[in-house]
Formats: sequence, C-alpha cells, structure tokens
Amino acid sequence: MKKMDNKCVFCQIAKKAMPAKIEYEDEEIIAFWDINPSAPVHLLIIPKEHIASINDARPENQQLLGKMLLVAKRLAKQKKIEQNGYRLVINTGPWAGQIIHHLHLHLLGGNPSESHPKKRTADKIDRTNKEF
Ligand code: AMP
Ligand code: ZN
Repeated sequence: MKKMDNKCVFCQIAKKAMPAKIEYEDEEIIAFWDINPSAPVHLLIIPKEHIASINDARPENQQLLGKMLLVAKRLAKQKKIEQNGYRLVINTGPWAGQIIHHLHLHLLGGNPSESHPKKRTADKIDRTNKEF
C-alpha cells in the first residue's frame, strides 16, 4: 500500500479523486499539466506515493527519483522541446516558494519571452564574458 495523505492535493490527483490533465501515468508516477502555467509547456511529474519534498526522499526512492527524470525527458521529447530547451525544477521549502508539499518535478519549456529572468541573466553573462 502506497503512503498517501488525504489532505494532499497531489495525492488526490494521483488517485483520480481530483481532476487533472494527465500526460503520463505508470504504477509509480503521474505527470499532468500545471494549473497555473509559467511556460508554454508546464508539466508536473510526481510520485504517486506521498513524499513531502526532496528532503524526505530516502535511499530506497533512488530508482523512483531517476525514473522521474527519465519521464521528464520523454515528455520533453513528446512536446517537441527537447532540442530547443527546457528546465527541470524542484522547489524545496518556503524560501524556494514550495507551495505544494508533495514532491513534484516541474518541466518548463517552450519559447521563453525576452523578459524571462533566466534569459535576461544568460544574455548578461554572455555580454560580460565577451568583454574579456
Ligand atoms: P511549487 O511552488 O513548486 O510547490 O509548485 C506547485 C505547483 O503546483 C504550482 O505551479 C501550481 O500552479 C501547481 N498546482 C497547484 N494545484 C494544482 C492542481 N490542482 N493541478 C495542477 N497544478 C496545480
Ligand atoms: Zn501527497
């Protein structure tokens, strides 16, 4: 029996008690669209088991954690963003803005706008490096 938390929104999605636009599912993992996307492609890859954050991951979760990355890679390919680029993010704790306390891997991709903070920083670093 997998560990579940009845008050957890993502546990509810994992057991289909709450609707979500599901993109991938197997016995251990489910991936669905973020309800408030910050990129053209914004998927969340989660373990079905309730693990509150990466801080709560244990050595026996090693295979599961690796599989989450491989699922993300496969979804990036499926969404045709694997060449142009995407980010994989795990927010952990209040300073990182973690709002859902069920481990989730954000897959963020698609064409970023010029105002994207990461893009601005990359351009700035590029200019700085070119000055040397
Ligand atoms: P984080 O800040 O890393 O905890 O991100 C939580 C993410 O979950 C946010 O991007 C939310 O938009 C997303 N989210 C919250 N509730 C739902 C939901 N019911 N279905 C899909 N995504 C959700
Ligand atoms: Zn949960």
